[in-house]
Amino acid sequence: MDELSHYINGRHVKGTSGRFADVMNPATGEVQARVPLASSDELADAVAKAAEAQKAWGATNPQRRARVMMKFGALINEHMDELAELVSREHGKTLPDGKGDVQRGLEVVEVCMGAPAMLKGEYTDDGGPGIDLYSMRQPLGVVAGITPFNFPAMIPLWKMAPAISCGNAMILKPSERCPSTSLRLAELLTEAGLPDGVLQVVNGDKDAVDAILDNEMIQAVGFVGSTPIAQYIYGRAANNGKRAQCFGGAKNHMIIMPDADLDKAADALVGAGFGAAGERCMAISVAVPVGAETADALVERLVPRIEKLKVGPYTAGEDVDYGPVITRASQERIRGLIDSGVAQGADLVVDGRDFSLQGYENGYFVGPSFFDKVTPEMDIYKEEIFGPVLSQVRTESYEDALKLTMDNPYGNGTAIFTADGDTARDFAHRVNVGMVGINFPIPVPLSYHTFGGWKKSAFGDLNQYGPDAFRFYTKTKTVTARWFSGIKEGGEFNFKPMD
Ligand code: NAD
Repeated sequence: MDELSHYINGRHVKGTSGRFADVMNPATGEVQARVPLASSDELADAVAKAAEAQKAWGATNPQRRARVMMKFGALINEHMDELAELVSREHGKTLPDGKGDVQRGLEVVEVCMGAPAMLKGEYTDDGGPGIDLYSMRQPLGVVAGITPFNFPAMIPLWKMAPAISCGNAMILKPSERCPSTSLRLAELLTEAGLPDGVLQVVNGDKDAVDAILDNEMIQAVGFVGSTPIAQYIYGRAANNGKRAQCFGGAKNHMIIMPDADLDKAADALVGAGFGAAGERCMAISVAVPVGAETADALVERLVPRIEKLKVGPYTAGEDVDYGPVITRASQERIRGLIDSGVAQGADLVVDGRDFSLQGYENGYFVGPSFFDKVTPEMDIYKEEIFGPVLSQVRTESYEDALKLTMDNPYGNGTAIFTADGDTARDFAHRVNVGMVGINFPIPVPLSYHTFGGWKKSAFGDLNQYGPDAFRFYTKTKTVTARWFSGIKEGGEFNFKPMD
């Protein structure tokens, strides 16, 4: 069995804590590797080394840093298939979806190739007599990224690329369930020319996270994961004087108006509800048709589409729509929530609880499930299921549908399907959710915008990637300068490149 490592100062380093977590193959239920869980001493050692490496990296000019991103982007492209396979092997998602995971991370690396333009600061000429003002963006020092299992390439890349291109060193603590992609990305960064120690991958669990939160040298923490942990990390990091942005869970609603193209809406719901086994923070888990006729017509279209979904291991290639969920505990929790939906009176139209696949009986597969007539008091509505379960909540009017979405404690993503521009526009303006799709089910913004939810889906002030990331990973210093007039010296006539 493979024993994984940490990645410290540009090389793989074995864990010394004596503690490990099993990395499972979710399609078979077998252990495929074990990952070391760092102690607080190992974490402190990685941080001290990162702080040392950051001094020179922070003093390297932004364009030279950007060149590392350019090479890194090229290497990610070159190794796309290998990285997608690493993602799928530990997560279980299909290979095309694994590639999407890498691709949406790569797009953030691409934006970071232009980091110098984002870091160039501001200048006021003649703010007073002989007075100029300028603001510069300086790196924070050592920062940390703590990431979830469900996007093993994309979210580590969302963290490391902006942090590093801003001149920081990063401690990345990936999910202990899917650690291999981060380790491989760290190797590629070394190959791209990143100095040793600027990215340290420290594997671990709560012990490593708590050591990060209490480490005085770490200036900022970027977290993505479930809401209770996001809230905990935000509180403890902020209390220790760190900058923190912590992104949490979701319950994303899609409103379907009576004038929507219902075939397109049904296709979108199936892809957004069941893709990646529903394990996406932007998955649509609640369909909200307006009017009984719309609801009935939608059920008619959804059921055959859902029943046709092919569930299996990623190794089956194109023949599979989605794979297993991440752990046995998650599989059991999802089945339990489906049981609770039935017990609480929802109408289980498609039942995926007994799904089993020949040859993969020990895999963590859950068949697709679809509930109609769900109400907001039911657990299947209140909980983030994070599995292949779609709930339909019927509403009578647009205002009811909007209110339902707005009353939900989460505010990550939402969508509306309609043919009416006025309704769509009203929805986009009024809804209290961070990312909105109009006839677009998973509105993950492009990498030069920013990603972030509202309400209990995010704690902290700035979003991930895009312009917000350059603000989060730098601090502003503003200089007010006055030069008294005097004898002017001769000029410098040689045109010299900057060092
Ligand atoms: P998780 O909260 O269990 O774990 C996330 C990270 O926190 C991991 O690195 C894990 O090791 C660490 N962690 C877990 N328990 C901890 C504890 N008690 N103390 C300190 N650290 C702890 O989340 P997950 O199951 O890996 O990921 C799924 C969740 O992430 C879902 O809720 C999903 O909606 C959310 N998510 C949110 C976004 C977003 O941008 N809003 C994106 C992807 C996933």
